[in-house]
Amino acid sequence: MSERTIAAIATPLGEGGISVIRISGEDAIKVSDKCFFAFSCKPLADLDGYSAAYGKVVDGENHAIDDAVALVFKAPKSYTGENVVEISVHGGTVVARQVLRRVLECGATLATGGEFTKRAFLNGKLDLTKAESVMGLISARNDAAAKISRGAREGRISRDTDDILNKLLETAASLAAFADYPDEDIPNLNEENFAALLDECYAKCQKLISTYDMGRIIREGINCAIVGKPNVGKSTLMNMLCGSDRSIVTDIAGTTRDVVETTVSLGDVTLNLADTAGIHETDDTVEKFGVDKAMQKIENAELLLAVFDSSTALDSDDKQLLENIADKKCIIILNKTDLPAAFSKSELGDFEVVEISAKSGSGYETLTNAINHVCKTDMLSPDDTVLINERQRDCVNRALSAVIAARDALQMGMTLDAIGVCVDDAIAALLELTGKRVTNEVCDEIFKRFCVGK
Ligand code: GDP
Repeated sequence: MSERTIAAIATPLGEGGISVIRISGEDAIKVSDKCFFAFSCKPLADLDGYSAAYGKVVDGENHAIDDAVALVFKAPKSYTGENVVEISVHGGTVVARQVLRRVLECGATLATGGEFTKRAFLNGKLDLTKAESVMGLISARNDAAAKISRGAREGRISRDTDDILNKLLETAASLAAFADYPDEDIPNLNEENFAALLDECYAKCQKLISTYDMGRIIREGINCAIVGKPNVGKSTLMNMLCGSDRSIVTDIAGTTRDVVETTVSLGDVTLNLADTAGIHETDDTVEKFGVDKAMQKIENAELLLAVFDSSTALDSDDKQLLENIADKKCIIILNKTDLPAAFSKSELGDFEVVEISAKSGSGYETLTNAINHVCKTDMLSPDDTVLINERQRDCVNRALSAVIAARDALQMGMTLDAIGVCVDDAIAALLELTGKRVTNEVCDEIFKRFCVGK
């Protein structure tokens, strides 16, 4: 347990119903009893854990700062595993800051970013993946992102990792026994069994890594550009997806001369959406600048929505666009289907085509489903384990590389020691993932990304 008793405002600063000042450490209750007085006249020190007291917080001259409710948690049964008091006062910036100042005068020190959660980790209340899920929950921008973080909070990543870890530990123990007693006929200790165990670890690491990209799209969104020649309805589509007039819609070709950007959530996917200038041959300098930027967006986007006007025959600009997007992750939007069709869908080639009328909003659901399908987010089941950050992916990747090296060493008939070194590397990478074996530097790096008060 750390010696310092820390305090911070745990709620966002701003007008709101309540603000919470959180205090954690051995002296949390002692510090609180210097500035919080319960109307029952009972000191917090006399209360059981998980109790609440109604009273007031007073300043150094005994003047009330605000009425308050104090929640008392006694070590180890608290978020941090230490004594914790949470003082709820009226929301807003002034009162919360006054109460925090008073708590600091009474002996607490200001918590640094993520220090409460770091203490929870150091006191064995959370492993690293669960601690990171707290951050994921706080920053979730859609239901799916919250669901993924909730799963990690409940220990899904640790459960799957421990599963691989146990297999690797079993392999390491068998390798050691095999090396120590080469002449003994110990059942299940043979190369075939080692290979089977490593194959299983390989498959499980692969499966975990494969979840990362889907998780990233759900959390951070996918960079998506709407492209097409002028007047096909790109801005109207942008507005349909945003549910507001984000882009200017006119029937004058070339109105969108720059890139208009916004973020929209469609099902489980967040699109970091860019409406680009119409791509076509032009001599207008300003328009050309917009077309060049649109071409850049095509290069950099992770998903393209390529819009075509179904009511006019395909021309050379459309055909050029089809060529430009040939090797991209792309959905073709056949727009203006409320008007008579001027060409057949088959002329667009093998792309996935979604028919819509951006003007009336028809086809919205089909498009949402197509985007979730292309991003594979429609495959996310409620029980799936999803890696939630780059650090986790890196750890599993290192474990996977070490497992591959162990398999290669086994196949090449290398010594058991050599195979054992690779297995140990894989074990080390997974122990780092959950934080069972992690350096102070890595630990500091993780928690400094948290906000103060968490
Ligand atoms: P952009 O240049 O590709 O961004 O095209 P706009 O979104 O500015 O639309 C060009 C014109 O097509 C405007 O007059 C829109 O009202 C019209 N438009 C867009 N979508 C549809 C549609 O689904 N049906 C019909 N009938 N008109 C549309």
